[in-house]
Amino acid sequence: MMQKHRNLYVAVFALFTYAFAWWIFAAPVDQVYWNARYFLSERQADKSVVVVRLDQVSDEADGNSNYYAEVLKSLHKTAPAHVYLDAGIKRGNSALITEIRSWGNRLSLVARVNPTSIAHGTSSVSALDLPDRALAGTAEVLVSGFRVNFWKYVTLAPCSIEVDGQAYRSLAASMAGIGCNRGDFRPDFSIDPVSVQVIDSGALVDGSAKASMLAGRTVLLSTSATSATGTLGYFGHRQQPLVMLDIAAAAGASPRPFVDWRFEIVVILFIFTVWPVRRMNNRWVRWSGYGVGVGIALLGPVAFEHYGLLVGAGSTCVVMVVFGCWRTWSRWRERVIETGNSGLPNFIALGKQKVPTGFNLVVAVIGRYEEFLATLPTDLHGECARQIARRFSVGCRTGEIYHGEGGHFAWLEQDHGADEQLEHFEGLKALFSAPLLVGGHMFDTNVHFGIDRNGQFDTLTRLNTALASASEALKSGRTIEQFEANRLANAPWELSLLARIDEGMRNGDIWLAYQPQWEFAESRISGAEALIRWNDPVRGPIRPDEFILQAERAGRIDALTYWVLEQAISSAEAMNALGSRFQMSVNLSAQLVDKPSLVSATSEIVLRRGIDCRLLTIEVTETASVYNRPAAIKNLLALKAMGFRLSIDDFGTGEASLCYLADLPSDELKLDRRFVSRMTTSDRDCKIVHSTINLAHALGQQVVAEGIEDITTFDMLRRLGCDLAQGYYIGRPETFEQLRARYLSFGRDGVKSFTSC
Ligand code: C2E
Ligand code: MG
Ligand code: MG
Repeated sequence: MMQKHRNLYVAVFALFTYAFAWWIFAAPVDQVYWNARYFLSERQADKSVVVVRLDQVSDEADGNSNYYAEVLKSLHKTAPAHVYLDAGIKRGNSALITEIRSWGNRLSLVARVNPTSIAHGTSSVSALDLPDRALAGTAEVLVSGFRVNFWKYVTLAPCSIEVDGQAYRSLAASMAGIGCNRGDFRPDFSIDPVSVQVIDSGALVDGSAKASMLAGRTVLLSTSATSATGTLGYFGHRQQPLVMLDIAAAAGASPRPFVDWRFEIVVILFIFTVWPVRRMNNRWVRWSGYGVGVGIALLGPVAFEHYGLLVGAGSTCVVMVVFGCWRTWSRWRERVIETGNSGLPNFIALGKQKVPTGFNLVVAVIGRYEEFLATLPTDLHGECARQIARRFSVGCRTGEIYHGEGGHFAWLEQDHGADEQLEHFEGLKALFSAPLLVGGHMFDTNVHFGIDRNGQFDTLTRLNTALASASEALKSGRTIEQFEANRLANAPWELSLLARIDEGMRNGDIWLAYQPQWEFAESRISGAEALIRWNDPVRGPIRPDEFILQAERAGRIDALTYWVLEQAISSAEAMNALGSRFQMSVNLSAQLVDKPSLVSATSEIVLRRGIDCRLLTIEVTETASVYNRPAAIKNLLALKAMGFRLSIDDFGTGEASLCYLADLPSDELKLDRRFVSRMTTSDRDCKIVHSTINLAHALGQQVVAEGIEDITTFDMLRRLGCDLAQGYYIGRPETFEQLRARYLSFGRDGVKSFTSC
């Protein structure tokens, strides 16, 4: 589930990180970016604009008016194209009014707006003291104002500003000769303010300024030309007098309005460029892609600015940093977490792969791999894994071999079809017939394979099933084991077996069946074997060997066995109460036989129940799963000492039944039904049965023959001297009531018997 929505989680996380980082970093990065961008593209100012620095000669308006009138008069002689009087004068005296009138519409009056008073998105201000109409006459009244950012740097200049409901053209718009019905525009901050021609009004009045400097030019007669009257941030050139910003704004004004575009177009372009190349194997292609992405991030805003779109670089830089960190982290993860010490990709990396259609997932396990490693110096472990991977790689013609824990290797390979498959794996196995030579150490290797051919599952599930199959192949010694899809369907049931067994024992779904045993000498039923049964309400009857195996795997066999013992004791007591001696047999799992707790738990039960242990027979089977043989023998001896009879079950099929016979002071030997069922048709089997009976008797053991299904076998065994008979011919495993009824109908003292006997 988590895996399925991983990309979604990553996207949401990235979005939050981006939003957070934007607030913290994007605006400062933008600030640095714009400063650098205009500093690096610095150019000289146009010579058609001249600033005449107006000094305020007195504190009184009248005094200033006289002086400004005098300056204007001097200016007249130089014949400028247009004059902007930016002196903040509201009501001048008659001398100034007369002078202003003499200029007609070649003079404009400028009022300044406090930059912070223009709200973002609007251009309206209120309560601005504009020049009196009497003063302005025919001169146009202009308003100069700017939009500023957090650091009081000018970002945009409005084309017009509304004062108390009436729109006034901005000084910059007027200088650029554009109307007042446009939006904002971006000042051209690349103009070097130092290169703007500035002269003092004093030079004009005393005639020292050359007329040619001003003739035909636009003259800004301004008190805002000194930093004393206020400055604002000018990208690339720190703080500048306001009139310099007017000049930059006029230079940047274009008939096309500027849009402060919040839409992150550069971010999107950046992502579109770097995302597809991030997983390219060719490092040059990858880095070229990243280079293009960075180029877009840094030059994109400049290009967009050219087309009237204001997009910062801050957001893209934030995305770049987030992307860079994420890529570095994932590459580190790939290198460190997804690669083993062998340098081979590990199973985490394989889990992330998509298995192509028609491909199988194969896991190979090297037997005793941990033992090899234990004898090798640590620095050779990687080399050992690489050598093994090379052999697999040659054998299956695949470059990518994944290395897991404990000698597991995996790869994907095309489906060869069931017939070819075994041959192919036998061939691979043959590659390992030559020993491995690692740093002077030589090892014989033994390899087993697990294969998953269930294309419908995801890679991780397939990897796990192939691993399980490989472990089974290793355990069973087979070359290859294949995981069947239906096993996966059973997996939830098997995995919750613990709880189900407990519930089954409580509610009666798990119960004991009893199979009678016939004693030839006394011609009577003298005992029974307790056999567990499970009728699951959903799955129906489950075969004991099937769920006992699961219970053993789940570590639940102890509880099950002690429950069987308790039930069998109750039944044995009930049967013995009927008169003659009745022997009850119970099966002991090979997984339990060597457990230290076996003897104490069993003695606790028999002491509590107060039963004579001699009435109980414990059947044991010798299998490979008896882990600790000496402990098993010790436990069985202790049980015998308590009075239990010991029986060697399935004699002739176990791995070392004769060893058990030699080591264990058993009382009984149960001939497996494989020999018994064939003894009437196979002379060899008959001889085996005969000699086993003789061997058992020679060792003082009783012999029970299992699986007697017909009278011929029954008679034959009686003649051969077998002591006890068990099988469908005498009686199938049945409920306790049925056993009791059968016992009573045959007669507890052997009065009735089989007709043929
Ligand atoms: P087992 O101990 O060798 O039990 C004899 C098996 O042979 C029983 O199978 C029985 O039903 C079957 N059988 C008996 N007579 C005949 C016959 O004439 N013909 C044929 N074809 N089969 C016959 P079941 O009950 O399916 O049990 C299978 C195995 O499960 C048992 O083999 C035993 O190893 C194990 N088992 C059963 N109950 C328990 C238990 O309580 N604990 C443990 N640990 N294992 C148990
Ligand atoms: Mg048995
Ligand atoms: Mg048996």
